[in-house]
Amino acid sequence: MRCIDTGTTVWSTIRAGVAACLFAATLTGGERIEALEPHMGTMFRIVLYADDPVKAHTAIRAAFDRVSDLDGKLSDYNPDSELNRVCTTAVNRDVPISEDLYSVLKVSQSLADRTDGAFDVTLGPLIRVWRVARQARVLPTPDEIAGALSRSGYRKLHLGTHTVRLDMPGMQLDLGAIAKGYAADEGLRVLREHGFLQALVAASGDIAFGDAPPGKAGWDAGVDSLNAPNGSFTEVLQLHNSAISTSGDTEQFAELGGVRYSHIVNPATGKGLTMRVGVTVIAKKGIDSDGLSTAVSVICEQHGPEAALALIEKAGARGIVIVEAAGQWKKYETPQ
Ligand code: ADP
Ligand code: MG
Repeated sequence: MRCIDTGTTVWSTIRAGVAACLFAATLTGGERIEALEPHMGTMFRIVLYADDPVKAHTAIRAAFDRVSDLDGKLSDYNPDSELNRVCTTAVNRDVPISEDLYSVLKVSQSLADRTDGAFDVTLGPLIRVWRVARQARVLPTPDEIAGALSRSGYRKLHLGTHTVRLDMPGMQLDLGAIAKGYAADEGLRVLREHGFLQALVAASGDIAFGDAPPGKAGWDAGVDSLNAPNGSFTEVLQLHNSAISTSGDTEQFAELGGVRYSHIVNPATGKGLTMRVGVTVIAKKGIDSDGLSTAVSVICEQHGPEAALALIEKAGARGIVIVEAAGQWKKYETPQ
């Protein structure tokens, strides 16, 4: 499943490594300006409406710089990131952390509590085992899985007043399920600070929307079904001042020994999800829609789609869950 705003060409196929580029089109109520830049291993996109393109470009630069700053703190790929540094420095001692890392860990731990650890940012060792397996196309051994799980568990991470402590060496934090949503929120916040309210920031499938475009009730957000033909949307939502995220295995999965494993792991089985599930969550903030969409995917495999919808509703969000059963796709939705 994926979501795009349908006002432009499909962008979700654009890959990191493409240089930043800008597009502009004049409409009544301001010029539509669009900018793309690779960050956090994906393509970030900003769209805004502006009367002054020069000021708009300054704002866009500041928003992308903020995203880049967050990547330096929250990435598990960058060995020098704050996240990776605390994996060694915070073992058995409280270490002060940045406001950003603290905010993301705080929301993550709350979500872990509410899902009994189905969502867990300490699952880094297990996520890495499966990342290697996907690349090498070789299933991990039970020992590798057990070893990774023994170094995971959100109860081994303790937040103090802007500090973090980890219970054992060899732990690895992974914010891949939540950092992009937070970065989209922060990019949008920077655009607003520069006076651009009619804007969106998209980090692949995580999009934060500001005020609606001129003359419109909202931004068109297309929610694409997992099995729908390319470019056909099962639903188009009109969104403003909210965020949408999708999770699924359409793009990142591995077929090993005839079984399809998602890049989202289920700590109860120690494996990538094998249930085919696509989730879209609409929440006030990208940090919530992003975290929830991943959490809901795991809950769906653990407890079924009804429990998944209950989690979304309890969080005050809306959502669509699509699951495959006996070769048929079935759609579940929270009440409107
Ligand atoms: P996307 O890759 O499209 O951003 P998600 O937001 O669902 O999709 O995030 C998937 C990523 O979340 C994985 O690549 C991994 O880094 C991390 N992850 C996988 N399983 C879990 C889990 N159970 N809890 C928290 N994070 C997870
Ligand atoms: Mg997510």
